[in-house]
Amino acid sequence: MDWREVIALAQGAPNPAPRRVEKSDEEWRAQLTPDQFAVARQAGTERPFSSQMCSLFQPGLYACACCGTELFDSSSKFESGTGWPSFGAPVADGVVGYHADNSHGMVRVEVTCNVCDAHLGHVFPDGPEPTGLRYCINALSLEKIAS
Ligand code: FE
Repeated sequence: MDWREVIALAQGAPNPAPRRVEKSDEEWRAQLTPDQFAVARQAGTERPFSSQMCSLFQPGLYACACCGTELFDSSSKFESGTGWPSFGAPVADGVVGYHADNSHGMVRVEVTCNVCDAHLGHVFPDGPEPTGLRYCINALSLEKIAS
């Protein structure tokens, strides 16, 4: 994945998900904490530096907090200084969805869980090599799991 591919996907290039999980808002509300629901299901943003996950670099996988799909690996995690967990790449093609986001007077690319449509955060073209991408992700949308 590189920025050119990100833009293509955000403009509607095919991006098939490995599977689909669809639940009602009531079902998500019953399963998630109120903070998780606000961020993952209502595209909220947690306060920066609000999670210890930012400075956590132990090996492991980061799964979607809603549906459990493995999204990111600790090997691509880096310290961005932004106050949000940051990754250089997802674990596989198709697990992350890309959407043009023109809210708040900015042109950004929103990233979602491509399996359950959970809001994850945004991706920016200022990350480290080799991808040059920075996936800026809300910790509330992720669950750290053992590798
Ligand atoms: Fe999900």
